[in-house]
Amino acid sequence: MDVIYRYDPFAPVVARQIPNANAAIDALIQGNDQFKRLVTRMQERTMGGDAGDPIVIQKSPITSGLPLIPGTMPNQAPFAAVLGCSDARVPTEAIFDQSFNDLFVLRIAGNVLGSECLGSLHYALRQLKDSLKVVVVLGHAKCGAVTAAVDTHMSPDAYANIACTFPLRSLIDQIQIAVRGATHALETYLGMPMANKSMFRSILVGVTSYVNAAVSAFELQRELDLYDKNGPKVVFGVYDFDSLRVQSSPAIDSESPRLRSAPRNAQELADYALEVVDAIMSMEDDEREAGYMLTVHA
Ligand SMILES: [Zn+2]
Repeated sequence: MDVIYRYDPFAPVVARQIPNANAAIDALIQGNDQFKRLVTRMQERTMGGDAGDPIVIQKSPITSGLPLIPGTMPNQAPFAAVLGCSDARVPTEAIFDQSFNDLFVLRIAGNVLGSECLGSLHYALRQLKDSLKVVVVLGHAKCGAVTAAVDTHMSPDAYANIACTFPLRSLIDQIQIAVRGATHALETYLGMPMANKSMFRSILVGVTSYVNAAVSAFELQRELDLYDKNGPKVVFGVYDFDSLRVQSSPAIDSESPRLRSAPRNAQELADYALEVVDAIMSMEDDEREAGYMLTVHA
């Protein structure tokens, strides 16, 4: 199987037009689909599938955000700002198949919103407002920071061992509101305690990954509205390792938007948590176990 990146200096350059938030979201989703196609094809080949025709990807320095000639540099012009997790398995540009100068990226464990993050975003919104059309919070499945927050919630006696330093504790603490919201939604759905504590923990981590992204998006939209009511819209999604998709619902074939608008109030957030719980609990048992069972303790 061949993947060919091809550059033709004489090919016409067609600059990408991203005039608004919807176009920015479309570009991110199309990029994520392209990433999924490439990885799926490699997986199929690994499993003995046919190599098929080479995949040819046209590359241009200008559309790739690279200097066309030595000694120059393009103006910074990202179309989206992304607040994502530091997890090494979730590189932002690769997940969305974007290149240099496309994304203004902030990565912090658990994609929580701290004052330094917010300062960087305010800088971006002030300096890059002509190009920046949308702000994205990107969570991911099986997040270590979310797992640690769930474990401190389920085992308070182990809190000091898990969040052993003040900086780590402040990070874990920020995720607790999402853990509590996810716990409430899951317990409401179940109506009784789940006998299998290990499965409960795994599902709670799964639900919290989505709710935590929604909480960060909610807080971020509120902060940005204080700064500028007509500023960019905030959306959120979660990268799923199994489906390779960025999605706002874990449901298979879900009609929900892949990148969803930030909740506007506590009720929308609570409704969203219940929707995520319903999607995971409605899966077949083996599908849920394959997708959500954690094998490694945080
Ligand atoms: Zn993470």
